[in-house]
Amino acid sequence: MRLHDTLRNLKNSADIVIIGGGVIGLTIARSLALRGVRDVCLIERNNLGTESSFAAAGMLAPQAEANSRDDFFELLCQSRDLYASFAESLKDETGVDIELDTTGTLYLAFSEHDQREIDERFEWQTRAGLPVEKLTREEAKLLEPRISPNVSGALRFPNDIQVENRRLLSALANSVSQLEVQISNGVHVEKVRTENNRVVGVETSAGFIGCSTVVVAAGAWTSFVDSKIQVEPVRGQMVCLSAKPQLTRHVIYSPRGYVVPRQDGRLLAGSTSEAVGFAKEVTVGGVTTILRNAIEISPSIAALPIADTWAGLRPRSADGLPVLGPCGEIDGLVFATGHYRNGILLAPVTGELIASAIVQGFVPRELAPFSPDRFAARMSDML
Ligand SMILES: Cc1cc2nc3c(=O)[nH]c(=O)nc-3n(C[C@H](O)[C@H](O)[C@H](O)COP(=O)(O)OP(=O)(O)OC[C@H]3O[C@@H](n4cnc5c(N)ncnc54)[C@H](O)[C@@H]3O)c2cc1C
Repeated sequence: MRLHDTLRNLKNSADIVIIGGGVIGLTIARSLALRGVRDVCLIERNNLGTESSFAAAGMLAPQAEANSRDDFFELLCQSRDLYASFAESLKDETGVDIELDTTGTLYLAFSEHDQREIDERFEWQTRAGLPVEKLTREEAKLLEPRISPNVSGALRFPNDIQVENRRLLSALANSVSQLEVQISNGVHVEKVRTENNRVVGVETSAGFIGCSTVVVAAGAWTSFVDSKIQVEPVRGQMVCLSAKPQLTRHVIYSPRGYVVPRQDGRLLAGSTSEAVGFAKEVTVGGVTTILRNAIEISPSIAALPIADTWAGLRPRSADGLPVLGPCGEIDGLVFATGHYRNGILLAPVTGELIASAIVQGFVPRELAPFSPDRFAARMSDML
């Protein structure tokens, strides 16, 4: 099935309705169907996989920017480590290669300040027994000859990898279609209907659908579906360059930006973080900043043609952490949102844990720190 195909025979009931056909909604739909849940309906108001998940860079890099070990870091690493088998089973199911590239990630330092930052990161991650290598300028240049001569040192994270997120979306769309998930593109969910603190269905632009479980995977638009969960859009712009032959092998970060080489010769340069509501424009300021930071990483970038630009809206919750699991107040209401900068990375673990919570009826231990109920608890503390 292609991303833009539409199945419009909307039924008026389902066991489980998923709101949102981005990487999160699709992965949950697949995980539920693989567990034998037969009557899953995924509702997407546009076409599958056309919002934040399409705009992303596909980096699966929990270690590169982490300054400490906490529940969130563990969840990110757990999900990254699921990717090899996730990619393999998607290939078996659909024939789509999601281009999981395991070359690794470099993080470059240019100033004393940058160097202190990477030294500290190296120290805590080494103490924690995580795989990380410290490189001199010369060692970094040997690995990636086109990086700037101004690099003072670097870290290499061999387990921080990347995936072609648009191919991932195609693979997931194919997979859920084969697994007979009912997909309704072009249908907008207006409201989750509840009675006596239980979900009874969703009101949509195409009518009411009765169901006992709803998964809200609506990304940056989550608060329109349920205003108790505050999720705001954070715009990220991206510049796509044409680099044939490819300029780098690794994903390369600096503290200010990153470049991601794709197998087909695209080189993605990102990004910005802007609180500008739901505006998805690409701006002169955004592109200028991204290109300045990319050229700092590799001056050779200045000679590359610009192939494309775009922007997407990262879903950020009130505390910046994902919102995952059943809502204590309403039976049958489950959230899988607020993945902010890491939704591609977190997709496999989100799919596994949310599907387990629904099918087995208890919340896996890993989800506890991310429960939607943490916001209700904070609100009652404030009263
Ligand atoms: C520039 C940029 C770079 C990024 N790079 C990375 C990266 O390298 N690695 C990484 O892990 N993450 C990255 N991210 C973050 C990642 O893209 C997001 O965290 C992830 O895509 C969120 O997935 P989602 O399915 O929740 O949201 P989305 O992909 O936005 O999907 C939500 C879907 O819900 C639909 N929807 C909303 N409301 C309704 C409704 N009422 N009814 C029906 N449908 C509805 C929307 O139309 C949309 O399709 C990046 C993001 C951006 C913008």
